[in-house]
Amino acid sequence: MSAVVSLQNVHKSFGSNQVLKGVSFDIARGQVVAIIGQSGSGKSTALRCIDRLETIDEGHIQVCGHQLDGGKVDLEQLRKDVGIVFQSYNLFPHLTVGRNITLALRHVRKLPRKTCEERARQVLETVGLLEKYDSYPEQLSGGQQQRVAIARSLAMEPQVMLFDEVTSALDPKLTGEVLKVIEKLAEGGMTMVLVTHEMAFARRVADQIVFMHHGQVWETGGPDILVNPQTQELQDFIGNGL
Ligand code: ADP
Ligand code: MG
Repeated sequence: MSAVVSLQNVHKSFGSNQVLKGVSFDIARGQVVAIIGQSGSGKSTALRCIDRLETIDEGHIQVCGHQLDGGKVDLEQLRKDVGIVFQSYNLFPHLTVGRNITLALRHVRKLPRKTCEERARQVLETVGLLEKYDSYPEQLSGGQQQRVAIARSLAMEPQVMLFDEVTSALDPKLTGEVLKVIEKLAEGGMTMVLVTHEMAFARRVADQIVFMHHGQVWETGGPDILVNPQTQELQDFIGNGL
């Protein structure tokens, strides 16, 4: 049982809309999994189930030793173990970059001020923005703001990071700088799940690709499936994109 994240036969409906129809995949420590697929195929829902932002109807999910189906879940500990970053970075506009990062450390973790500030500087250095510690979000580009959001998540020292299309709102140049940060985290051994439309990036960084189609894992395997898709659906999805 070495999987850090394990989904087994996960089902999830919203009303009569069956969004996940028996999704299964495992992620080992230090692995990077890229979830790809058309809009509406259930990628975000699958990701949100891992952080228990959604509950599931059937199946099993285990994340960092937390069993998320049935019984009680220690949500506070789960949210410590799992970091999630979305397309919209949601920084507090009235707080400096440094304060955006230290806020949860101070008030949720209750760590001493000095420890929080040191950790904020450390994670800002990781994302290459140490010099922005005292800046306000509006003084930063979209890409820089997203890197701050990633830093804020890293400051909580998660065991697993989830990224949901974090570059979708960014132009290509800013996308590149955010992807570089994610790639660096991968090289550092961070366990990650990336929902992404960046196929070349997925192929380069991911150990495993999960192609979702109509709420199912339609095809999965190493990055080579992006070059040699086994199903017509994956072939159609990729098109001539690579
Ligand atoms: P993807 O991320 O692959 O685009 P999603 O997981 O966001 O797909 O959505 C899959 C389906 O689930 C869509 O039909 C969407 O409308 C529906 N859905 C997602 N979240 C909710 C929700 N909170 N309430 C109702 N329907 C939802
Ligand atoms: Mg989505």
